Amino acid sequence: MPTAAEPSFDPIASATVPVAPNREPAFAHPAQQAEAARRLAAWAERRGRKAPNVLVVLMDDVGWGDFGCYGGGAAVGAPTPNIDRLARQGKLLTSCYSEPSCTPSRASLLTGRLPMRHGLQRPPMYGEPGGLDGERTLAELLSEAGYVTQAVGKWHLGESSASQPQHCGFDDFYGFLSVSDMYTEWRDPYFFPEMVYSEARTAWVENMPFNKCFVHAARGAAPEQVEEVTIPVLSTLDDRWAAYSERFIDSMAGREEPWFLYHCTRGAHFDNYPLEKYLGSSPARHPYKDTIVELDDIVGRLVDRLRDTGQLEDTVIFISSDNGPEMETWPDAAYTPFRCAKGSTWEGGVRVPGIWSWSGTIEPDEVTDGLFSFTDVLPTVLALAGAADRVPGDRFVDGVDQSAFLVAPGALSHRKYVYYWLGQMFSALRVGEYKFMLGSISDGNADVATDGGFSGVSQKYPYGRVYNLYLDPKEQHSYLIRKLAYLEAFQSGLRDHVQTFADYPPKASVGLNV
Ligand code: CA
Repeated sequence: MPTAAEPSFDPIASATVPVAPNREPAFAHPAQQAEAARRLAAWAERRGRKAPNVLVVLMDDVGWGDFGCYGGGAAVGAPTPNIDRLARQGKLLTSCYSEPSCTPSRASLLTGRLPMRHGLQRPPMYGEPGGLDGERTLAELLSEAGYVTQAVGKWHLGESSASQPQHCGFDDFYGFLSVSDMYTEWRDPYFFPEMVYSEARTAWVENMPFNKCFVHAARGAAPEQVEEVTIPVLSTLDDRWAAYSERFIDSMAGREEPWFLYHCTRGAHFDNYPLEKYLGSSPARHPYKDTIVELDDIVGRLVDRLRDTGQLEDTVIFISSDNGPEMETWPDAAYTPFRCAKGSTWEGGVRVPGIWSWSGTIEPDEVTDGLFSFTDVLPTVLALAGAADRVPGDRFVDGVDQSAFLVAPGALSHRKYVYYWLGQMFSALRVGEYKFMLGSISDGNADVATDGGFSGVSQKYPYGRVYNLYLDPKEQHSYLIRKLAYLEAFQSGLRDHVQTFADYPPKASVGLNV
């Protein structure tokens, strides 16, 4: 992984430098940082603007392998030409890491913190308490830096008033507060006949304390109900939410303020009920694959809108998904070449697509295996916005500023370790191509086509397991006994990480004891 600029660099042998007492240490790469600064200044000069717009398109339960640019696409019955084109115009990350499930990932993206710190260790369901309340979000920090902030689509970071997007830094929100299946599974006689055909049980679930509607909310206000999310309504949501984001992009053309659009799709979380025009539109003719075709079209629509309104060169775009495939609902499920699935800390659970594009500023045609964590989004975006000093100083921030990694050609990641947590159990760390695992979820066998992460039992490894993710991306062969020389690299990373929790105690808002 060394480059011509840094021939002696090695992600295991090289040391990080401290960033701040409350921050994850990072690799310094001075040459690429200087080049990134030069490119950012050139953009500002060329475009006469101070800070770029930021578009995050976060999909739900879409796998690392679903897009054509990751080896899926047509090969798995759902071509993704728009996403593939965007990837060619930017930087494709092969080691982009989420958390094992929806809510922990989304909270990590918006706070720059691991689930043990923001406290959302698993998704809240059916109106359970707990949420983002008390956290400092990227939207809030960008807002304070002068950004217009818009959230569209899935939230799932708590339904309590203080945890809703319009109270967590967003000027406006149009979407639903929870997760797709919660609105429909109990309405579908195929999955829930005993509920649908029982008036008493239907009334019982209808009385549960979660909002059955999708909503619109302005900053600081109570949400207004837009429409109850029945199955036919659910089919239309991604199309309607994309139209809302298109209108937002239109409305910002010519405005002086930069903006942050956090667009979270409904798809392709189970159960997928595609919009009528997409039914059978994929070569696979399966609802999951038809939904992928629609999601690809939505990316195309948003990018076209940016181009048509003259904002493409002013907008940093990040496309990703919040976790790996949900294999308990197969075949309504994503594709990953890695081991296991959503709910686990095997690579299949947490390695997700990650595409960064910024026309004219991020170099096209780059693929990199540099480590990138969802927690990096917050400090990276703040740095791109010229607001690096707004990273919170009163709490631990796990994210690393990766702005130079994204913007400089051929750049190296600034992150040394990826830490994998399974609820409150420390599971693994990755450094370079090696993953050191102390505990995980049992998935039956070393393949992805199993029941998946939520169905497994937790298991601990007294001596640990070591996987070489280049030789063994499916994590089938523990390499520990042949690779003991790396133990110190693993253990020192672990020790330093554990120490941060002594200095900054963990938090559980929606807890998971494993
Ligand atoms: Ca998800």
